[in-house]
Amino acid sequence: MDKSFIKAKPILVKLIEHGFDAYYVGGSVRDYLLNREIGDIDIATSALPNQVQALFEKVIPVGIDHGTVMVRYEGESYEVTTFRVEESYEDYRHPDRVHYVQKIEEDLARRDFTMNAVAMKLDGTIVDPFNGRGAIKEKRIETVGVAEERLQEDPLRMMRALRFVSQLGFSLAATTYDTIRHNAYLLERISIERKTVEMEKLIQGRFANRAWQLFIQSGVDQYLPSFEKEPSLIQKCAQLEWIPLEDMAEAITIFHQLATSLSVTQMVKDWKLSNDVKRQSLRLTEAVQQWGSEEDCYVLYGVGESLLSSFCKILQILNRDAPSFKNLKRTYEQLPIHSIKQLALNGNDVRALFPNRHPGPWMQQLLRTIEKEVVTCRIRNEKEYLKERALQWNQQEEDY
Ligand code: ATP
Ligand code: MG
Repeated sequence: MDKSFIKAKPILVKLIEHGFDAYYVGGSVRDYLLNREIGDIDIATSALPNQVQALFEKVIPVGIDHGTVMVRYEGESYEVTTFRVEESYEDYRHPDRVHYVQKIEEDLARRDFTMNAVAMKLDGTIVDPFNGRGAIKEKRIETVGVAEERLQEDPLRMMRALRFVSQLGFSLAATTYDTIRHNAYLLERISIERKTVEMEKLIQGRFANRAWQLFIQSGVDQYLPSFEKEPSLIQKCAQLEWIPLEDMAEAITIFHQLATSLSVTQMVKDWKLSNDVKRQSLRLTEAVQQWGSEEDCYVLYGVGESLLSSFCKILQILNRDAPSFKNLKRTYEQLPIHSIKQLALNGNDVRALFPNRHPGPWMQQLLRTIEKEVVTCRIRNEKEYLKERALQWNQQEEDY
C-alpha cells in the first residue's frame, strides 16, 4: 500500500477500534488504482462529526454542518467525512440538508463520478458498487446514477468532469458529455470561488488541451469568469500547446496575452483571486511583453528568481522563442546584481551627491537608470563609477 495511506492508517484504526466504520475514499483511492501520485487522503466514516472530534486531539471543524472535519495528525491534514447522503442543493453550493447514513455504499452513491465512488478498507479491500474500477480501466468519466439528475443537482460537477479530463486524460462517457452540453447554462448559478478551485486544478493537468476542446464543444466556457466576456478566448487557448501550470498567476498571464479586451486586474477580480496572484501576474505580463525588445538579462532581472520557472513555461506555451530553463537560469545567476538593494549606490549617496536638490521622484529615476545600466553590464557596480554616472545624469538633466 502507498506510504500516504500507511501514514493515515492510525486514524482509521482508532475509528475502527471505537466501533465505527472507516474507509479511504475519493481521489486518493482513484489515483492509487491508476498508479498515479496520490494527493490528499480523504477518509469516510460512520462516526458523527462530534464523535470524530472527541476521538482526536487536533480537529478543525472545516465543514462540520456537512459532516466534514479536518483531523491534523503528524503534520498532515485529513478530511474526515461522516457517511452522508444529500438532499436538494438549493443554493448550488452546499446541499440544503445532509442525512447521515450508516453504510459506505450509501455514501458512495452521492459522489460525482464512478471513478470517485470507490472506497478502500484498511486491508486494501476495495468497495466498488458502481464499477468505478471498470471506468478507471477504460479511462471513462461517468456520473454515478442518472447523468441529468446528478449534474443538475450540482452543476459544478460539469466543470469537475472537464478538470478531470485535464488531470487524468480520461474521456467523458457519451451520456455525461451530452448532458453537459445541454445543461452548461446551469453553471451560471455556481459561485465563482468553486469554479476557481476547479480551474486551478484544470490548468495543472497534463491534458489541458483536451479540456479546452471540450469547453468549446460543450459551451461550458460561456459560463466561466472572464471567458464569458470574450467568447473567442477559449478558441485561442485551444490553439496553444499547454503544459502543466503551477498556479492561477501563470494562467491569468497567458489568458491576458490571448485576450483582446481583458486586463490582468480585471481577470484577477473576475476569478476572485488574491492580491498576491495579481502582483505575480502583472510582473509576468510585463516581462512577457518586454521579451525580445529589452535585453534578456534586464527582463530576467525584473522577473526575479521566484517567478523564473513560471516565466520560462509561459514563453514556451506562448511559443515565444523560449530558451531552455537551464539557459534562463544561467543568465539570471550571472546578473551582476539581483535587486536594487545590491546597487553600490543608494538614496543617501544620491542625496549627498546633490545637496542642493530637493529629494523627489528624480532620485528614483536616477537610481532606476543606473540599476538598468548595471544589470545590462554597461557599467560596473562600484560606488565610484556609479557616482560619476550620477553626476553625468544630473548634468544631462540640467542641459535638457
Ligand atoms: P483531487 O485528487 O484532485 O483532490 P478528488 O477526486 O479527491 O480529486 P476532491 O474535490 O478532493 O476531488 O473531492 C473528494 C471526493 O469527494 C471526490 O472524489 C468525490 O467522491 C467527492 N466529491 C467532491 N466534490 C463533489 C461534488 N461536487 N459532487 C459529488 N461528489 C463530490
Ligand atoms: Mg481530493
